[in-house]
Amino acid sequence: MKKYYITTPIYYPSANFHIGHCYTTIIADALARYKRLSGYDVFYQTGTDEHGLKIETKAKEVGLSPKEYVDKIIADAKDLWEKLDISYDYFIRTTDKEHIKSVQQIFKKLYEKGDIYKGEYKGLYCVPCESFWAPNQSSSGKCPDCGRDLTRVSEEAYFFKLSKYQKQLEEHIETHPDFIEPKSRKNEMINNFIKPGLEDLCVSRTSFKWGIPVDFDDKHVIYVWIDALSNYITSLGYPKETESFKKYWPADLQLVGKEIVRFHTIIWPALLMALDLPLPKRVYGHGWLTIDGGKISKSLGNYKDPREYIDAYGVDAVRYFVLREVPFGSDGNFSEEALILRTNNDLCNILGNLLSRTMQMAIKYFDGKITISDKNEKIDNELIITANNLKDSVDKKIEELKVNEALELIFDLFRKCNKYIDETTPWLLSKDEKENKRLETIIYNLLESIRKGSIMLNAFLPQTAKKIFKQLNLEEQSFQDIDKSENYNVGLEKPEILFKRIVK
Ligand SMILES: [Zn+2]
Repeated sequence: MKKYYITTPIYYPSANFHIGHCYTTIIADALARYKRLSGYDVFYQTGTDEHGLKIETKAKEVGLSPKEYVDKIIADAKDLWEKLDISYDYFIRTTDKEHIKSVQQIFKKLYEKGDIYKGEYKGLYCVPCESFWAPNQSSSGKCPDCGRDLTRVSEEAYFFKLSKYQKQLEEHIETHPDFIEPKSRKNEMINNFIKPGLEDLCVSRTSFKWGIPVDFDDKHVIYVWIDALSNYITSLGYPKETESFKKYWPADLQLVGKEIVRFHTIIWPALLMALDLPLPKRVYGHGWLTIDGGKISKSLGNYKDPREYIDAYGVDAVRYFVLREVPFGSDGNFSEEALILRTNNDLCNILGNLLSRTMQMAIKYFDGKITISDKNEKIDNELIITANNLKDSVDKKIEELKVNEALELIFDLFRKCNKYIDETTPWLLSKDEKENKRLETIIYNLLESIRKGSIMLNAFLPQTAKKIFKQLNLEEQSFQDIDKSENYNVGLEKPEILFKRIVK
């Protein structure tokens, strides 16, 4: 069995998650489900990056220990993922005991190899962003990210020899065109960061405590990189040579937001090279989902708990919007108006309407019992061909991570079905006894197209697909069922409305 290892970034739980976190997680979920339906042994991992000064500070503000503080947020996040039907196989937390132990072993391994050495860190530090800046990165003394004042710091620290891997990294990127995607981000990494020269990286701190201690020098805690990035291998048991590590590593696809592409395509591969491990096959930097055109944050006042959208419009309306609205590499915008528009136009008018019309005709004219038919005319064959070709064309889009276009193809089939009803005019045929067989053929073709479309929809809108199969009186189907011919002569179930039109 072929394997597929897909990851989201581990999110920073300094506050409850917003729709932007849902975006990456839903897309990864759809891809993971798609691969499972294609017969892959899938490992889908998400999780949280829980250490660092920011969380230490936030927890203190509300009178909790850092662990108590993150525990609450993680419980909330897991509830959110459940409500969104996120089918992750593993949720890693960087406060997990096994992760902590593995990270200490990795740190020691690199130290013993000589790739980590002790030095002195001099630079500027932004407390809210938890970012270090070299003096040449900020002439004004302000944080280039947030504009706040930087603090001058100097302390003993361990460094990772990132510079040592510059050449090897450049070579890898050049010889593996799929390693960094989309292409624009690859060029940005090469020209803006790698070519100008990589500097060694500060990988420990002594100025805060909420982190994994360096076990051979415990006044230091491991700073961000080795702790956070190695989650993708510690979850599989590394440095132990476990079965799951041997099976799933290297990752097939790592999804990351564009702001962390640099860490995942420069620091992460260099660490893997230092550990003599293969690199992930593909790192994809996607755009941001903004809200009403701006970044999402509680302090900006545009934060809304994603569960409010789920409760108001249904989980599949939210999933559909996120998957359909934004071309995956680009930035996109989330607004309630746009969500309503998508739900009404696509889910109600195209899909819901099609299912309801077809079901009603089948029940009214044939008591819900439709027999297989092969007496097709030209107009029938056109629809049948579209339905039969759907899987191949969606496969191609998924391979290119064009999830929105994959959904567009599926809805094109549903749109064609609606047009087919309009053009074959079943309501007229129903008035003529001699046209009975013709009428049944049309309804049969519609049911088969809906069935095939729903098999493809399963990865994206699992609950909707389930509801459709139920109405068709079929067991849930997978990709391997798509080419067979179904019979509907046992009778369809009672029709139910899939999506209610949203009036606001
Ligand atoms: Zn800052």
